[in-house]
Amino acid sequence: MWFMSEVGELAEALRGQHKSEEVAKEFADVLAWLATLANIAGIDLNAAIEMKYGRGCPYCEKIPCLCSPTEKP
Ligand SMILES: [Zn+2]
Repeated sequence: MWFMSEVGELAEALRGQHKSEEVAKEFADVLAWLATLANIAGIDLNAAIEMKYGRGCPYCEKIPCLCSPTEKP
């Protein structure tokens, strides 16, 4: 629930006319809660990211992704 709340706050910050420092803090909150949830679930977040995105986009395999906006998951 805390994670979803923080995602909501980030969405609100991105939609509004907030200072970039405030938006950055919301990103930090979301990342901190995501890392906490991964830890509770016993997931190595670094390993998970490397597994899925270590070779770039899992679909086009490019860095940065070259998929068209309509093809992005
Ligand atoms: Zn791609």
